[in-house]
Amino acid sequence: MSLIDGKKVAQEIRSTIGKEVTEIKAKTGSVPGLATVLVGEDPASAVYVRNKNKICKELGFISLEHTLPEDTKEKDLLALVNELNRNEAVSGILVQLPLPKHIDATKILEAIDPAKDVDGFHPVSMGRLMMGTAKLAPCTPSGIIEMLDRYGVEIEGRHAVVLGRSNIVGKPVAMLLLHRNATVTICHSRTKDLPSVTRTADILIAAVGRPKMVTADMVKEGAVVIDVGINRVDGKLVGDVDFAEVEPKASLITPVPGGVGPMTIAMLMANTLKAFKAQSETISK
Ligand code: NAP
Repeated sequence: MSLIDGKKVAQEIRSTIGKEVTEIKAKTGSVPGLATVLVGEDPASAVYVRNKNKICKELGFISLEHTLPEDTKEKDLLALVNELNRNEAVSGILVQLPLPKHIDATKILEAIDPAKDVDGFHPVSMGRLMMGTAKLAPCTPSGIIEMLDRYGVEIEGRHAVVLGRSNIVGKPVAMLLLHRNATVTICHSRTKDLPSVTRTADILIAAVGRPKMVTADMVKEGAVVIDVGINRVDGKLVGDVDFAEVEPKASLITPVPGGVGPMTIAMLMANTLKAFKAQSETISK
């Protein structure tokens, strides 16, 4: 077994981005800008947003932080998104999910200009992803593909089994794997005899949100195992994969923490730089 060191790969990506931003700044005087919007006081969301803003600053991006109270009205949030859409200093907009229940998250995500949709959750971004013409792909799924590539995992012709069908992880990662010519199976809570399906995976992606659900009997000898899960158990972070059991069987495996998590933020920064460059091209045309 070898470990996929997401923390190290993410650091490499961030360092490349930081260098490019320094060069762009020297040449043009401008830098990418990421606007984050946090509504309410969900502690996990607050940590994610704080990390994103910290890394933004490290990379030389402009970081615009909007923290709104829990009782923010939907129309006021929409007004803020529209203002950020118009703000030329903002290359990317990230509205941290989940939003409070009284706000329609779909409506908010659909209000974001697709050119600034660095999370890749807008229906236009999702549609492009489906068609294989993604400009800004969702960060966790593209981070997974990036890790597989950097560790030399062959994707074409392999059987990839994705556990979970959420819009933010399961479906988009399945699409990216399909575009890379994997044969893809998507499993979910109604899948019958799950272990018999997961055991056929050359590449197994677990995005379920159930601590240590993937056990050794569910994994083929030599499989590449990517654990997306972030679960808090007794104050500790654990993945969806029972790492101790599965690790001896896997040829490559991601740890939790230090696997997919850091890659998600790195890809968010990569998307923000990409959006900035695309917007700069549009302005100069
Ligand atoms: P989600 O929206 O709750 O989706 C979970 C999926 O797992 C659903 O499709 C569900 O099936 C399926 N599922 C649940 N129980 C199952 C079971 N017993 N057998 C088979 N499938 C089952 O979750 P998500 O947003 O995709 O997130 C998944 C995990 O990844 C969470 O732990 C989350 O915290 C983590 N995550 C990590 C990152 C990162 O950066 N590392 C990013 C995003 C998410 P149904 O559709 O049938 O209900």
